[in-house]
Amino acid sequence: MPSLHTLLSRGIVAFLACALIASFASAQEVPGREIWKAGDMAVTAIQDLPGEMAISLFKGPASEQEKSKYFTDGKDEAGINAFLLRTGGKVVLFDTGTGSAFKSPGKLFGTLASLSVKPEEVDFVLLTHMHPDHIGGLLREGNRAFPNAKLMVSKPELDSWLALAARDISNAPAGQIKDMADIYGADVLPFAFGDTLLPGVTALDASGHTPGHTVYRLTAGGKSLLIVGDIIHGMPLQFALPDECATYDMDPPQAIAARKRIFDLAAQKAIPIAGVHFPFANAVGMVRKDGKGWKFERMK
Ligand SMILES: [Zn+2]
Repeated sequence: MPSLHTLLSRGIVAFLACALIASFASAQEVPGREIWKAGDMAVTAIQDLPGEMAISLFKGPASEQEKSKYFTDGKDEAGINAFLLRTGGKVVLFDTGTGSAFKSPGKLFGTLASLSVKPEEVDFVLLTHMHPDHIGGLLREGNRAFPNAKLMVSKPELDSWLALAARDISNAPAGQIKDMADIYGADVLPFAFGDTLLPGVTALDASGHTPGHTVYRLTAGGKSLLIVGDIIHGMPLQFALPDECATYDMDPPQAIAARKRIFDLAAQKAIPIAGVHFPFANAVGMVRKDGKGWKFERMK
């Protein structure tokens, strides 16, 4: 059994290697797009960067030939999204895009401005996990980008990265997470899976991609939406063949189990899902059982 330290280190190496295989282009300024509304909740998808995932990212039992049916010229459209929730007079952001972590700067802040949301008006930032393409927007020039926000992240996620930073000071991504946690200080609020974080917002255990990877369930007016983080990197491949993992997944067996659990929940209860790496035009959709796998149907 590899140690958590080994898994985290491997995950970082895989992440950095894969950031080269996945290419993220400079985004046109895209306004946010409302994808879901129920009760007093409204969710807007924000494209931080568009991008592509290469077939070479995915490892699993399928043959290269079988996998290739799900790609065009060995690539699939993807992207990096964040989600804005307005509820009960509060402004909540799910993930923060890349900031300046990649060559092309992320567009989150430009889009927030086009939606008339100032960073200081964001009340809560909820993280699906702490890879650089999800936390890159938390700091700007070493300061809090969201000066008034509480920062919520699962305890296993935060603890594992901080433990790695303490054990290995040369580990740059873990060190950056420690700096970020220090800068947000007492406003970092770790939670347990199953907790209700805000009225109608619950944290579900989707660990595997990272040690504390979280899916958020939003419920209002009798309806729900799942913000599924990095359950999926390649669509449609991983809906049809959920045993395929991007090399970003730190614990593949656990990541596969989480993917299937979330697909089952979404399909059985007819809950739409919104993904961080879904192409922006397909940022939200329904999951349907389809033979041994599932399929995605775009909603809006
Ligand atoms: Zn990611």
